[in-house]
Amino acid sequence: MIVIGIDIGSVSAKGYIISNGSHHRTIVPTGWSPRDAGQAIIDQLLDATRIERDQVERIYVTGYGRVAFEQADKTITEIKCHARGIAELYPEIRTIIDIGGQDSKVIRIGEMGQVLDFAMNDKCAAGTGRFLQVMATVLGLDVSELGGAEEPGQMQMISSMCTVFAESEIIGSLARGNPKGGIIAGLHQSVGKRVAAMARRMGVREQVAFTGGVAINQGVKRAVAKELGTRIIVPEACQYTGALGAALLALEKG
Ligand code: ADP
Repeated sequence: MIVIGIDIGSVSAKGYIISNGSHHRTIVPTGWSPRDAGQAIIDQLLDATRIERDQVERIYVTGYGRVAFEQADKTITEIKCHARGIAELYPEIRTIIDIGGQDSKVIRIGEMGQVLDFAMNDKCAAGTGRFLQVMATVLGLDVSELGGAEEPGQMQMISSMCTVFAESEIIGSLARGNPKGGIIAGLHQSVGKRVAAMARRMGVREQVAFTGGVAINQGVKRAVAKELGTRIIVPEACQYTGALGAALLALEKG
């Protein structure tokens, strides 16, 4: 049985193909067309595995761009896909924190990976991956460099919650000669505080996993763990958790 799961996110589209038990994954920038991004994922997965399109039994799609992608056999919510992906990787997880490009979520899951409760912030860019991308640009860095560049010992607190005001605050902080690494630590702390507050409102049960592209950033991981006072598990392919879940649900006809 061959199936594909695709997660078309606001920043990047991720895909997983499962072919008789073996997995292959790929990622492309979503760009302006979620439909083209989804198609690119299918093309790359088929190319890399030398599988023909008509050999694929089912394609399930999730993510913010899922409604624009008509090729899929089924669309599924990101909440359900993240829960399924994590349950496969770490059955002991009870709370998932997911931070992607334009939203953050906290999902509580049961012993079988079923969704018990969730909370989501998609109203405001603060505390999301986009927020970090904007701030990295102000600091003259790529978002992938933030984690390695922070200096928690020189933390400069960021008080503005709004992305536009936080940007001005950073420009002002740099102008006063504050160290970049300290400003970055402050940014990570502000993202950590926001998501931790959302998690605490819902109730955090251990163990806790952190997924989505922002989980690649070690600084944000450290900040979330500190705010929650718990150990946090980040899957090796944290950005692909939703795509993995979609592929598993396609396999199970879920
Ligand atoms: P979406 O599903 O909304 O497209 P993702 O889960 O793919 O979002 O996460 C995208 C975010 O992940 C980016 O906005 C960025 O902040 C962060 N990110 C992506 N790649 C990296 C990286 N190599 N290092 C650190 N952060 C990253």
